[in-house]
Amino acid sequence: MLEKKMEEINTDEVIEEFEALTKDAGTVQRETLERILEENGSAEYLQNLGLNGRTDPESFKSCVPLVTHKDLEAYIYRIADGDPSPILTGKPIPNMSLSSGTTQGRRKLVPFNDELMENTLQIYRTSFAFRNREFPLEKGKSLQFVYSSKPGKTKGGLGAGTATTNLFRNSKYKNGMKAIQFQCCSPDEVIFGPDFHQSLYCHLLCGLLFREEIQFVFSTFAHSIVLAFRTFEQVWQELCDDIRGGELSSRVTAPSVRMAMAKLLKPSPELADLIRKKCSGLSNWYGLIPELFPNAKYIYGIMTGSMEPYLKKLRHYAGELPLMSADYGTSEGWIAANVNPKLPPESATFAVLPNIGYFEFIPLKNDGERLYMDPKPVGLTEVKIGEEYEIIVTTFAGLYRYRLGDVVRVMSFHNSTPELKFVCRRNLILSINIDKNTEKDLQLSVEEAGKLLAEEKLEIVDFSSLVDLSTDPGHYVIFLEITGEPSEEVLKECCDCLDRSFVDAGYVSSRKVKAIGPLELRVVRRGTFQKILEHYLGLGTVVSQFKTPRCVGPMNSKVQQILCNNVAKTYFSTAF
Ligand code: AMP
Repeated sequence: MLEKKMEEINTDEVIEEFEALTKDAGTVQRETLERILEENGSAEYLQNLGLNGRTDPESFKSCVPLVTHKDLEAYIYRIADGDPSPILTGKPIPNMSLSSGTTQGRRKLVPFNDELMENTLQIYRTSFAFRNREFPLEKGKSLQFVYSSKPGKTKGGLGAGTATTNLFRNSKYKNGMKAIQFQCCSPDEVIFGPDFHQSLYCHLLCGLLFREEIQFVFSTFAHSIVLAFRTFEQVWQELCDDIRGGELSSRVTAPSVRMAMAKLLKPSPELADLIRKKCSGLSNWYGLIPELFPNAKYIYGIMTGSMEPYLKKLRHYAGELPLMSADYGTSEGWIAANVNPKLPPESATFAVLPNIGYFEFIPLKNDGERLYMDPKPVGLTEVKIGEEYEIIVTTFAGLYRYRLGDVVRVMSFHNSTPELKFVCRRNLILSINIDKNTEKDLQLSVEEAGKLLAEEKLEIVDFSSLVDLSTDPGHYVIFLEITGEPSEEVLKECCDCLDRSFVDAGYVSSRKVKAIGPLELRVVRRGTFQKILEHYLGLGTVVSQFKTPRCVGPMNSKVQQILCNNVAKTYFSTAF
């Protein structure tokens, strides 16, 4: 039934459904909580908390504590190890998702079930309907830089992979994606290929072969799209050779991938000449994407939060083509859809779908000096415009009052559901004493330094940081990978600029009294961040899930080692 309905998706209907759902988000939230607690009332976790079958928000909040992943780990591992009893959910959990681990340095296991699959499709359908109303797609395909991790198993035999791998493997996914014209131009063998470099090369090749049909370019995170076109700059001539001769480069060795590509490739000297001409005519690759894919309507992927630093490069490749920021979700569950596709990524918001989970918000208050938490969370419809909150989710997959660790700002309301802006991960990343700087603060500081480099026509490829306590006092270290060869003068200026751009009162006052030492800029060699990516791929992360770790803690010694072993130049700030 569902699959039939999916194929007949009607965008007006989907928008109407969303409008109806958000009219009285408060009631939908109560009903959603009721459903979650009824379906999972027999779970040991809930039984132990003494809910005794009650499903109202008041009883729920008084019985169930706020938790983090660490609090649930013992339960999750019992499920993963094969304990079939109802532990977190009424029905058995069939799969586990592995979060990227790039933020924490360690991959987390979280439950994945059919309900999460349905939620995913609902989110995708909703944002597609709004997107398609503004930027209608014609019949065709999409170029998707998607990669599936090797399907694994937990000790107890449950499927284990990234959340996207769990989606790809679900039988409902393909139909659902077809309904929203989300058909990848590459064959499955490329998506499921054993080696990311080979898959990326073949995605590019497939994109070129179907260039007239490509309606949009996608990857889960903007980082992978930028990485793909940076790679294109390196391999485009080889791609042209393959197209000309109708034979795949020997760099692709996986037999399954070679076989699938052989079915698509035939000698096409005209296409090879055309691409060569187009590439040669570009100035510094500006507008590459629309040049290659003349019928593409937009570029789609998560471009907010830790992806913002890649926007500049993405815009360069995109030329005039609109950038559209994708929805807000996590391995633990989905939260909100982008229903304002016309907004540029910097101001993208996400409207919470009130029937996919039960949402609470911990108010984050600023007393002028620092951010502190009001311990009493508020409900979805009680949040206030302009305020920041840490988000708490209760899902259909066994997470109850779970702190995701993300900070969001309420920008507006769509009917009665809030539209959120993603602010940052809650974890403070840089802190020595009274200073508190988040990922966002670091991003802003790097952006300022980036402006100095841009004046010299140089770009920041990627960045990270750490707190160095081996000096007395301790100090911040910022790692930058930069294109080209900046002069000593510019780099010294960048270093001072980075230091000055952390405007947190605790940092500035500590710097002034020398309770924090001068900021250190370490310029790393080209390719260093590629090595970090490779390191995570080695741990089983897939490229489309990868987020560069913006602060490298002492536990993340391997990444620290990669960064420190590749330092080309070091500067200390003289800003204070
Ligand atoms: P993972 O743990 O690998 O599933 O990644 C989920 C995390 O990615 C979230 O907790 C957010 O921090 C981040 N994320 C997901 N969607 C977005 C978005 N639309 N904008 C910014 N960050 C996002």
